[in-house]
Amino acid sequence: MAYLTLKGINKIYPNGFHAVHDFNLEINKGEFIVFVGSSGCGKSTTLRMIAGLENISSGDFFIDGDRANEKGPRERGVAMVFQSYALYPHMSVYENMAFGLTLQGVDDDVIEKRVLNTAKILGLTEYLDRKPRALSGGQRQRVAVGRAIIRKVDIFLMDEPLSNLDAKQRVTMRSEITQIHRETGATTIYVTHDQTEAMTMADRIVVMKDGYIQQVGTPYDLYFNPVNMFVAGFIGEPPMNFINAKVNDGKINIGETVLDLEAVADKDVLKKYEGEEIAFGFRPEHIKLVGKDDERKAYTIPCTVELTELLGDNTNVYVDIRGVKTILKVDPHDSPAVDAKMSFAIPFENVYLFDLETEKRIKLREQ
Ligand code: ADP
Ligand code: MG
Repeated sequence: MAYLTLKGINKIYPNGFHAVHDFNLEINKGEFIVFVGSSGCGKSTTLRMIAGLENISSGDFFIDGDRANEKGPRERGVAMVFQSYALYPHMSVYENMAFGLTLQGVDDDVIEKRVLNTAKILGLTEYLDRKPRALSGGQRQRVAVGRAIIRKVDIFLMDEPLSNLDAKQRVTMRSEITQIHRETGATTIYVTHDQTEAMTMADRIVVMKDGYIQQVGTPYDLYFNPVNMFVAGFIGEPPMNFINAKVNDGKINIGETVLDLEAVADKDVLKKYEGEEIAFGFRPEHIKLVGKDDERKAYTIPCTVELTELLGDNTNVYVDIRGVKTILKVDPHDSPAVDAKMSFAIPFENVYLFDLETEKRIKLREQ
C-alpha cells in the first residue's frame, strides 16, 4: 500500500493541447479512487502520468511522500490494466500471467505458486493452458487483471478495464474487482466513463470535465451534494432534471407555480437573483405523485405525460413541463397514461438550485 499526492499537475501535449489542468489530489493508502468523466476529459492522461507512461508537464507527484515525477514506471511499484487487455497472443494464460515475474528473475517455483493462487482467485485454473484467442472477453479480462495483481504491487491502476465486456459480465467483474481490492489492499485508481461503475466501486470519486476536476467525494457526497450542474447531471441515472425558473419577490416561479423556499433556505439567499432566472434541479427518483403523499411539504408541478417506459422495478415517465422535457421515476403500479395531465410533487429537501451563469450550486443554507 502507498499513499499518493498530486499537486498542481498539468499535462500539455507536444502539440500544445492542455489536457489536464491544475490537478490536486491526496490518495490514501489502500483507497479505491475512481476517475470518472466523459470521453476526452483527461482521465487516461492523468492515470498515465501516475503510471510513469506519460511525463508530467508541471506540478509535483509524490509516492509515500517521495517525489516521483522523474521515476520510471518500474520504480514506482505500479501495475496497470488496460482496456485492450494487451495479452500476448502466442502465450498461454499461465505464461501471460508468469511473464512479468520471469522478467524480474523470480524463481520458477515461486512463480508457479503465485500463478496457481492468482488463477484460483480469478476462476482461471482450468484455462491455464489456453491461448487468449480461445477465451471469452470476460476470461481475457481476468487474465489481464491476474497479470497485474500477481506482481503484488502497492499501486494498482485500471483504465476502463470493463468496457469491452457485455452488460452482464461487467456487473460480475465489478464485484470481483472490488473483492480483489479488499483482499490485496492495494491503493487503486480506476478510470471509467460509467457513473454506475464509479458509484458502486469507489471509496471516493473524482469527477472530471475538460481536463479539470469538478468535485472529489464519496458516492454519497456526489449524489446528495453535487457542487455544480455538471456533477449533478453526471451522477445519477436517469440524470437530474433542470428547469429554468424565475426569482420573483424571493420566491421561485415555474410557470404559474410559485415556490416559497422559506422552510429550507436562509432568508435572502436568492436576493442576488431577484428578477433573474436560475436552474431548478430535481432527481427523477425524488418526486412523489400528487395525491399519494402530503403535499404541504412539497412543491407541486403540473405536467403532461409524453411517454412511459416500464423497466420492471420502476417506470420512467417522460413528461413535458411547459415545453421542458423531464423524466420522473415512479412505481410501475402508479404509472400514468400517455397524454394524461397530472401533477407531481418535489419534497423541499430534494430541491437543488443552480446559478445559470457559473452553473454552481446555490447553497440554501450557510452550514
Ligand atoms: P479520457 O481518457 O478521459 O477519454 P484522454 O486523457 O485520453 O481522455 O485525453 C484527454 C485529451 O487529450 C483528449 O482531448 C485527447 O484528444 C487529448 N490527447 C490525448 N493524447 C494526446 C496526445 N498524445 N497528443 C495530443 N493530445 C492528446
Ligand atoms: Mg481514456
